Amino acid sequence: MTDYPFATEVITEADLKSRVRELGEAISKDYQGRALLFVVILNGAVLFAADLVRNVDVLSEVDFLGLNRFGESGRIGIAMDLSTPVFDRNVIIVEDIVDTGLTLTVLRRMMTDRGAASVSTAALFDKTRRRVTDVPIEYRGFEVGDEFLIGYGLDWQGIYRNLRSIWAVLDIEAFVQDPKVLSKQLHSG
Ligand code: 5GP
Repeated sequence: MTDYPFATEVITEADLKSRVRELGEAISKDYQGRALLFVVILNGAVLFAADLVRNVDVLSEVDFLGLNRFGESGRIGIAMDLSTPVFDRNVIIVEDIVDTGLTLTVLRRMMTDRGAASVSTAALFDKTRRRVTDVPIEYRGFEVGDEFLIGYGLDWQGIYRNLRSIWAVLDIEAFVQDPKVLSKQLHSG
């Protein structure tokens, strides 16, 4: 694993790959003989979802939901809605990180209100210690601490989603001053 004073690699590409495969296998087992609708939350969950659904071997549809998040309040708006009806479908919400749990709580209620036959969640990371509202996560990749994570879909000001592994930001101030601080080390620019 690679280390810099301002960021450190915390989950390797190989560990991500094998955990995502396990989640896909668990979903396949639980939903055998039923059809699934994966509701992928943009933009952070896209890479996770792409790998997850390829490890699921039941009939599946994949659709995307874009959110506007309003600060720390947990209030969300829909920036881009699903094009697939949720009514009577077995929905799996695919999230990158569950932090306070507020976003996921609203999303689960939204799917239920739209008449989903069932609703569950696959979240790659769970910041359990920061939870302010109790919300179930049926398929959880990794329990993580409080650090801000980037890579594999997770961004800092829109960049770093393309990193193949997960990095923890050690020095927030360094990233605030220069968002490209890590990219300068990793790909000379
Ligand atoms: P919450 O659970 O507080 O409603 O919000 C979860 C959302 O906060 C995630 O989907 C993600 O967009 C953002 N988030 C929380 N922790 C992190 C993190 O460590 N890194 C990144 N890039 N986003 C995070």
